[in-house]
Amino acid sequence: MRVFLNPGHHPGIDPGAVNRGYGVTEADIARDIGNLTAGYLTAAGCEVKTVQSNNLAGEDAAYTNVCLSANSWPADVFISLHCNAAAPAAQGSEVLVYDKWSPADTLAGCILRQITGSLGTVDRGVKARLGLIVLNSTHMPAVLVEMGFITNDKDCRMLIDQQDELARAIARGITDYITERGE
Ligand SMILES: [Zn+2]
Repeated sequence: MRVFLNPGHHPGIDPGAVNRGYGVTEADIARDIGNLTAGYLTAAGCEVKTVQSNNLAGEDAAYTNVCLSANSWPADVFISLHCNAAAPAAQGSEVLVYDKWSPADTLAGCILRQITGSLGTVDRGVKARLGLIVLNSTHMPAVLVEMGFITNDKDCRMLIDQQDELARAIARGITDYITERGE
């Protein structure tokens, strides 16, 4: 099973959402959790490729093209890692897919169950999003994990202090999906 990990945004170039109080950026958190997740997936026997890049599908030729890398490898599943941002009260985890009732929807449910079960975050569900490049320009089941809200104090502490638990949960969700699919 080939797992493509795409930590969102690009440290030093596109920080993504930020929490100035805690001095953290979405790009750095996604990078760190992505690296930990890659380690657990490799230990579980998966082939893993990780690309964090300002070039999702051809916008910035200076960096690796994320969707092209995943499609040409080709990956069996594609996982993008992000932190949500909104008003301070909003909290919880959600997973975005191109369409419901699809293999991506099943993969998303496996990952979300593991995250909310292990970290105790609010379950905001699996949601369909047609307009996201990493979901509509990839050719394999693709999900975008909004691990928690960087703008919420409780979620942000979790994103900083429980990166290892989060990575284990994401990796377990992916291996649950592999088991469910019988691959
Ligand atoms: Zn993001």
